[in-house]
Amino acid sequence: MSLTDLPKVPPDDPRLTPRQIGKSGLCIGCGACVARSGGSNATMRLDRYGQFKPSIPGRSTDKGLPNFAELCPFSPHARNEDEIARERFPSARYRDPMIGHFETAYVGHVREASFRADGSSGGMASWTAVELLARNMVDGVAHVVPRSDGEDDRQPLFRYRISRTVEDVRSGAKSRYYPVEMSAIIDEIRRRPGRYAVVGIPCFVKAVHLLRRQEPVLRERIAFTLGLFCGHMKSARFVESFAWQLEAGMGEVAGVDYRLKDAGRPANWYTAQLRLKDGSSRSKDWWHLVDGDWGAGYFQNSACNFCDDVVAETADISFGDAWVEPYSSDGRGTNVVVVRSPLLQRLVVDAADEGRLDLSEIDGDFVVRTQAAGFRQRREGLAFRLSWLRSGIGPNKRVAPKRSGLPARRMLVYWLRSSISAWSHRVFWLARALHMPRLYTSWASTMLALYQGLTYSRGWVGKLIDRIAGRTDTGD
Ligand SMILES: Cc1cc2nc3c(=O)[nH]c(=O)nc-3n(C[C@H](O)[C@H](O)[C@H](O)COP(=O)(O)OP(=O)(O)OC[C@H]3O[C@@H](n4cnc5c(N)ncnc54)[C@H](O)[C@@H]3O)c2cc1C
Ligand code: SF4
Repeated sequence: MSLTDLPKVPPDDPRLTPRQIGKSGLCIGCGACVARSGGSNATMRLDRYGQFKPSIPGRSTDKGLPNFAELCPFSPHARNEDEIARERFPSARYRDPMIGHFETAYVGHVREASFRADGSSGGMASWTAVELLARNMVDGVAHVVPRSDGEDDRQPLFRYRISRTVEDVRSGAKSRYYPVEMSAIIDEIRRRPGRYAVVGIPCFVKAVHLLRRQEPVLRERIAFTLGLFCGHMKSARFVESFAWQLEAGMGEVAGVDYRLKDAGRPANWYTAQLRLKDGSSRSKDWWHLVDGDWGAGYFQNSACNFCDDVVAETADISFGDAWVEPYSSDGRGTNVVVVRSPLLQRLVVDAADEGRLDLSEIDGDFVVRTQAAGFRQRREGLAFRLSWLRSGIGPNKRVAPKRSGLPARRMLVYWLRSSISAWSHRVFWLARALHMPRLYTSWASTMLALYQGLTYSRGWVGKLIDRIAGRTDTGD
């Protein structure tokens, strides 16, 4: 029986539990189960690897939660992205195997105010959220904001918050490659009537729709979902690693900008900046960090190995970076935008006609080209990973397992990326426990040389592999 043939279990099946999802490496830490648990002590906690996991005392994460099998975005029994999108966007103009149902796609940026300069990319995500609020189409926007300077140091650096003013929404601009969870904002939406927009990465947006199916009050109040394209989610240790490499103690760190903008440099030359409590700051290009090669997968959440949605297919509108020339060389930042809701399509078209947005229509293939590496990892790579023997719950994906047909070197890239992801958590944990940062940084730089040699034929490792295996274009 293939994974896609797994029998559906009844929605309130007590056999599937958050603990089983976690033990199977499928918990992204979204907080949907805690939001649904109804227990006052249920909470999301950062685990020893700096990733959110549910803790549901009383019911216990070992016991079934009502309807959990249909709630968790990584449950094999939950509706998949195609099923959710088909229901939400029945009359969409296009249906693309990679980017799903959509009305129109664009490349461009915000022209008005400082949205583009303030955003990680072209500023369209914050602009859309602000526009919804300013036009009274929503009363609040749930998105991710930094910890404020007065807050307790032990709190995570970023969290979901519901912003109810334009200024608050704008102050949350920028991408956070940091674990966050939604249980508190879901509670707030239940408690306080109104219409809301939720911003999230693809699996979080999927979780929101699965929650909406189970709770009429959420269905009514969550009026819009704004998706962010996603490569993968990082753990909280990624920032700690920045701090080690920038020779700052975590206790000195007041905030982090993962992508400091510089209009004079290509947009894809990421620079990380730590803001320190004494008012100074330290920065370094990702390329010079031992774990700054995104493709190598350091600190990636294991659930991301089993995701097949790059562009938030269930969101009303989603935003990514235009990672193709000439846009990737433009340090001011450029979005690709996929619009699925006819209402938001009108909003965007009107603003473009008024000269507030600079957008050109593109086709689905263009969107796919901007995310080539992400789609390789989530289609070809996912098919390969699904063919590996593993214990625990079998994920149920829209991609079928496929073991053969790939060049050996490409298979090695997928295997190495997956190993780096898994081991980065453990090696960092050990280095942190022993107060020996060099243990981690030495391991990480060795892995980096191996990964870049294998993938891009870089350095002496690359020359050696080329000589043994022959040069193959791995694509990444
Ligand atoms: C983990 C992660 C991985 C990503 N991977 C890719 C990728 O592979 N390819 C790609 O093209 N784009 C990716 N993106 C999206 C990209 O980084 C930009 O967020 C997107 O292009 C929108 O840019 P903007 O300038 O329009 O948004 P901005 O105007 O900067 O606004 C961003 C909005 O998103 C909210 N936000 C930030 N981080 C999070 C978060 N973790 N969860 C929920 N909301 C958040 C902010 O609060 C703000 O409201 C990723 C984003 C994240 C968070
Ligand atoms: S992925 Fe979300 S819903 Fe599923 S177990 Fe983890 S926190 Fe709960």
